[in-house]
Amino acid sequence: MDKNNMSRREAIRAMMLAGAGLAASSSLVAAPLKMAGLNPAQQKFTEPAKGDQVIHRTWKSLNGESISLLGMGCMRFPRKAGAGRRAPLDQEQINQMIDYALEHGINYFDTAPAYGDSERATGEALSKHKRESYFLATKMSSFSNADLTACKEMFARSLKNLRTTYFDYFLLHSISDMADFNHRFKDNGLLDWLLEQKKKGVIRHLGFSFHGSNEALRQLLALPYTWEFVQIQMNYVDWKDMPLEDSNEPCDSETLYKMLAEKNIPVVIMEPIRGGALANVSDGLKARIQQRFPQFTPAAAALTFASTPAAVMCTLSGMSNMQQLMENVYTFSHFKPMTAEDNAYMLEMARLYNANPHIPCTACRYCMPCPRGVEIPGVFGVYNALSDELMLPDPKNKKDKDFKEKKKAFLKRYATLAQGTDASNCVACNVCVPKCPQRIRIPDQMRKIHKLVKDLG
Ligand code: SF4
Ligand code: SF4
Repeated sequence: MDKNNMSRREAIRAMMLAGAGLAASSSLVAAPLKMAGLNPAQQKFTEPAKGDQVIHRTWKSLNGESISLLGMGCMRFPRKAGAGRRAPLDQEQINQMIDYALEHGINYFDTAPAYGDSERATGEALSKHKRESYFLATKMSSFSNADLTACKEMFARSLKNLRTTYFDYFLLHSISDMADFNHRFKDNGLLDWLLEQKKKGVIRHLGFSFHGSNEALRQLLALPYTWEFVQIQMNYVDWKDMPLEDSNEPCDSETLYKMLAEKNIPVVIMEPIRGGALANVSDGLKARIQQRFPQFTPAAAALTFASTPAAVMCTLSGMSNMQQLMENVYTFSHFKPMTAEDNAYMLEMARLYNANPHIPCTACRYCMPCPRGVEIPGVFGVYNALSDELMLPDPKNKKDKDFKEKKKAFLKRYATLAQGTDASNCVACNVCVPKCPQRIRIPDQMRKIHKLVKDLG
């Protein structure tokens, strides 16, 4: 690879691999596993006992509120069977999940107008519970229209959909940098208006969610506002380096977290399992995680890592079914923070994870719909899954003894994408690019994947 064209992330990965004497080759990463006599472990699932309660942390700066360390992310709710992503949400299952969550001590529910029908479904499920028995968090998703009137309408719709007269936690949704902040919240007078809502008690605590560089967060925190909490992406893979494909500015969960902790700002964690990717790591990585943490599934290990630091107020997990909820309830009702050695071990797991190429897509679907019908997170999901399974074929290395098997596996999985939705349909219109909080160069990645498929031809 031309060193001058290396992205920052690729350069860091190369350095990490060089330091460890590894190359970015699946076989080399898999080899020590065989040498250590490890076998890919089965995922374990332990059902919580009836009285199990997730742990809470109490926050002086937030009126002494006691908030469950596990929060329910309402972005990935279950859907009815049949029409894939277009199917309506499964309200009955959502009601059961929210009842179960409250019964086991989860009291923080996080949604947003940008999550499709989530606010309405969350409002319906919570409506049979006492309003003071839970904390409701939602956001101002003013991505496509920052006009003040439109934003006020969005705010009113959120109140209506959530069947409430106030929000416990209200966030400026997904700020990426100062220009974004100024355009969507400052110059249009929206932040002043939100501060008025806070004075009136319609907003109890005001914060923001953030997807940007370390420097951008530093600038936001230097502004003369009191941010009562901030939501960031944090997980063991992003701890040392978080990819911003469109920027060379440094970004990592560790620096973001420490900036907030130093200012005593409670931190809400999003993407602790990176959109589910860290729950479905390769068998090799799974075995290594379970070698040190036999009590954990990979998801439980990732959640525990993210929730260990003391300034973490709440770790959001976007649960899509009852089993995921039960597994998470078990993890957080038996929660023990990781030790410094455990953390170091997880960072070693991150190094191994990063030894295989990944597109940092968290399947949030903010980029959808694509006007040309490309199923963007689905295409990236196929690529990442094959990479995790060490089955990504390299057309330049057809002599690899596993090449034929990898090629067959890749093309078979790629063919599961519905007709007209694969990478070949991308016309690089760039419509999706500004919507992606991970700042993935989507058209470039589509071109790369399409080329891979053609080269396998
Ligand atoms: S750049 Fe490609 S994937 Fe993105 S919206 Fe345009 S056609 Fe769709
Ligand atoms: S490409 Fe970006 S916006 Fe689209 S689903 Fe993935 S992370 Fe979300």
